[in-house]
Amino acid sequence: MATSISYENIDFDMEVPVLVIGAGGCGLTAGLAARSEGAEVIVLERDPVPAGSTAMSQGYVCAAGTKSQTESQIEDSPDIFYADIMAKTSGQADEVIARTVAGNSGPTVDWLTDKFDVPFSVSPSWSGFFGHSVNRMHGVPSKTGEELSGALAGAAANIGVDIVTDAHVTGLFATDTGLVRGVSFQRPDGSEERIGCKALIASTCGFGGNREMIRKFIPEFGNAKNYKYFGHEGNKGDGILWGMELGGAVDGMNAFQGYGALAEPHAISVNYDVVMGGGIAVNILGQRFSDEIANISGQAQRVLDQPSGIAWLIFDDVRGARCDDMPEYRQLSELGAVRVADTLSQLAEVIGVPGDALAQTMASVDDIVDGRAQCPFGRDFGNEPKLQPGYRAIRITGALYHTQGGLKVDSRAQVLKKDGGLLPNFFAGGGTAQGISGNGATGYLPAAGLCTALTLGRLAGQSAAEYVKKLN
Ligand SMILES: Cc1cc2nc3c(=O)[nH]c(=O)nc-3n(C[C@H](O)[C@H](O)[C@H](O)COP(=O)(O)OP(=O)(O)OC[C@H]3O[C@@H](n4cnc5c(N)ncnc54)[C@H](O)[C@@H]3O)c2cc1C
Repeated sequence: MATSISYENIDFDMEVPVLVIGAGGCGLTAGLAARSEGAEVIVLERDPVPAGSTAMSQGYVCAAGTKSQTESQIEDSPDIFYADIMAKTSGQADEVIARTVAGNSGPTVDWLTDKFDVPFSVSPSWSGFFGHSVNRMHGVPSKTGEELSGALAGAAANIGVDIVTDAHVTGLFATDTGLVRGVSFQRPDGSEERIGCKALIASTCGFGGNREMIRKFIPEFGNAKNYKYFGHEGNKGDGILWGMELGGAVDGMNAFQGYGALAEPHAISVNYDVVMGGGIAVNILGQRFSDEIANISGQAQRVLDQPSGIAWLIFDDVRGARCDDMPEYRQLSELGAVRVADTLSQLAEVIGVPGDALAQTMASVDDIVDGRAQCPFGRDFGNEPKLQPGYRAIRITGALYHTQGGLKVDSRAQVLKKDGGLLPNFFAGGGTAQGISGNGATGYLPAAGLCTALTLGRLAGQSAAEYVKKLN
């Protein structure tokens, strides 16, 4: 795991007060916040356009106490969100970060909507699943991260945040007290430039794209035969490694979000609405193997544990129709990934699982839905009607979407040192900072990734601007 921090006292080509590395949701929000506080800001991004995992996502953000929730008469508060985080992680989430994120998520979403026209509203199809006790899932109209990323980048450009793309930061310059003086970055033609700064915000996401780090920190995934990473490949853990080398503390490094519904081999996320609405997952033997809605993140490992590491999501026309206008689902339909069949026996043939076993599985699900039997995996099907002929199925696998551990930060998103105190001018958020997911795969609350990206991004931007102001 090579990092490169130079303690050489060099001159820089130029200097900016606040420098942000990485133009995903966290970096762009940090830029917006720092600029709003009056600081000059440059965001350096390794790719030709700002995207990151943020643009790959479905753009959902969990947030508590927003205006949109109030308009929809949803009662929520930082305390309820905090309690949900602690319950989901069995008390393992860092208390300070959990409180900070729970308390600042709603104001951050409202601020982005009111001040920068990011069109968030609470999404009615999500309620009470996977550890959120109330509906706090906020999305942009298309439910795509692309729209979110575009809205943030547009807003940043409008208020004068300079986003420099094709700028791959490869090294930091610091003093021996851990004060960051600037960075060097590479252009696609191999040339190198250097830029100085007064404060640095690391928003390079986590280390999902760094196999060596995954094997070290999340061995159960990294060493799995069928291991797939489906986040942004450029997220190599750079910010975390720089922070560590400067003496920063890390926590929750084995935490991650998996996803147990990545269409295989199409590599497109299946909208989990088809499952939440009553769909089931069966393995290639035609058997169920899990409570499909118990843990959207932990489900990845369960699917990978099945023969060949794959499974089929089975639902019907009614459930499918609910997703027909969702971009991923539409794309899957266009690619022929959504198999259709009028009857169960046809379905078994179309997806290549034993017909008898599938018929038995479906009959036992009907018994559970009708209240004649208990689900052996503990799933509560609620009031959803039984699956009906007019079946649909999608072949899936489990994948790692993003890591959740990272640099330990305080309530102002400033990085804490291993041996106490703070790194003087190093701030972090999003996948670069420790999240609210505790340890492992099961503590991930849906949409916590973008929630911590935007919320800690805003705090990092405000804190960096404040730090710079104090120097003047
Ligand atoms: C398929 C998928 C669906 C998801 N859906 C959701 C969802 O609906 N809701 C949710 O909350 N979360 C979701 N997530 C997780 C969410 O996308 C991430 O948690 C979030 O985007 C992290 O934001 P970030 O700004 O920290 O990182 P990113 O958005 O990944 O941005 C990091 C940026 O840093 C750049 N970078 C990295 N290293 C360097 C370097 N050395 N120099 C310059 N630039 C660098 C990268 O190129 C990248 O643009 C999903 C993830 C995936 C993969």
